[in-house]
Parts: sequence; structure tokens; C-alpha cells
Amino acid sequence: MINAMKLKRGAEAFALQDLPSEMLQLEEYDEVHVNVSGGADSVARVLVALHGYRIPKEKIKLVHMRVDGDPNSGKRQLFDWPQTDGYLEYMSKKLDLPLIVIWDELGLEERIRERGMFPSSTCRFCTSYLKRDVYAKWVRQFDNIKILLLTGERSEESKSRAEKPVFKIHSANATGKKSRIVHWLKPIKDMLKTEVRQLCADNDIDLHPCYEWVTRCSCKFCIFNTSAEMSRTSQLFPDDWAYLKQMEQELGHTMKSKDGIPHTLSAFIKEDQYTFF
Ligand code: SF4
Repeated sequence: MINAMKLKRGAEAFALQDLPSEMLQLEEYDEVHVNVSGGADSVARVLVALHGYRIPKEKIKLVHMRVDGDPNSGKRQLFDWPQTDGYLEYMSKKLDLPLIVIWDELGLEERIRERGMFPSSTCRFCTSYLKRDVYAKWVRQFDNIKILLLTGERSEESKSRAEKPVFKIHSANATGKKSRIVHWLKPIKDMLKTEVRQLCADNDIDLHPCYEWVTRCSCKFCIFNTSAEMSRTSQLFPDDWAYLKQMEQELGHTMKSKDGIPHTLSAFIKEDQYTFF
């Protein structure tokens, strides 16, 4: 049982008392980019930036990377939740902050087909191609600027996230002629999920509707979905689910495996044991 007395409340309570010594003074940054997925952590991060660190609104930009690419390209939107674009518009209006949506020319499905395999926890090319590289490429167009990037990893999520440093110099940082400073801070690393949800509620911000079906706001068919989550999304998006299973056959590679043994998506959710009424 969670001890409510130990939970912190209010965005101010989550601002780090001592910022990493490699950072500039907060007021020295020209822009603060908050990478947003539409999840509750994204909202909490923006609230901590605004009310915890008191970063002026004029400096903050919400930046979202779509994994399916251009929404108007006519390509199948296989991985992005269909509600995410609308939710981010809502979030941008509610917080009165500009939203920038960016993507790579090739979406996740194309990257999977190009590589002939699905991403995995040890080869997470979905995140590197479609999130990390897309942001890095976009931010490299700006010179003579000091940028602070805020992302939302939290220690509670996994051991590997807990071990990662709270601050890094971003790969797009460029000294010399370009004079581009890109500093990367994870400001809600120590927040708990309960605190994140409470902060959103206290600020009257609705959560992304996907939380009705999954515990994390990520791709609808995320490689990390549990069997129960994948089962729910398969029923929500039956056409996409059939397409994904067909992809497994075409590629000769399954999204899921256990102890090195491939498991088809159908087997992963024990689809043959469903009862339809
Ligand atoms: S949400 Fe899951 S599938 Fe999507 S990019 Fe992240 S790790 Fe990959």
C-alpha cells in the first residue's frame, strides 16, 4: 500500500535542488524543448518546467516525434495511437504552449521491412531511428542557440533507466562555428507514477485515452506491451492486428520471443483461446 504521507504534491516539490554543474544557469537557455509522447510523464515534465523551474512560457516548445511518419501520406498508421495527434493539440492548448510535430521520411513499418526484422529490447531501432535521430536532425538546423532538452525517463520504470545519468550533453551539441548548445536533462527522474498522475489531476489535465487499455502511452503495438495489453489493442484495431500478423509471415520474423524461441503475435496473446460472443 502506498503511504500517501510520503508522496510529494505540487510541481515545485519536484524541481531538483541542485542542478548538474555542467548545466548553464536556467535563464541562459534560449529555448527549452520538451519531448512529448502524449503520456502522463510528458504532462508532468511540462508542469515541472513551468512551475518547478519557472521557465517562461515563451521559451518552451513541445516537440513530438510521430513513428508512422507523415499523417497525410496515406501510409497505414500502424503504430501511433489515432488519438495522439488530437490529445497533443489538447495538451498544447491547455498549457498554452506551441506544439511541433516532426517525423522521419520512413515510418516504423518501413524501417522494419527495410531491416527484415522487428525491433527488440536489445536492438531498439524504433526509438533510435524514429525518436532520437528525428529530434537530433531537426535540432541541428538551429545555430547560435542554447537549448535545454527535457525528456521524461523515470528511475521507477526500469533498472536501466535508474542507472542512466540525469544530465548529458546531447549529440547535436556543436561548439565552434555553429555555436549550438544542446543540454539534455531528465527532470522527473525521481518522480513516482502516482506522483505523476496526481500532478496531472491537480492541474486539471485529462490523460491520454490510451490509459484505458494500456499502462504506458507508447506505440499501440509496442514491442514491450504485455500479453494482456497486446490482446486489448488487437481487439481495438483488428485490421492493423491482421496486417501485423501478416507482416510476421512476410518477414519470417516474430515481434516476440521468449528464451530465444520466437513466438508469433497470435501465440503471444493466446488468440486461439478467445471466446467471441
Ligand atoms: S513505444 Fe515501443 S515500439 Fe514504439 S518506439 Fe518506443 S519502444 Fe519502440
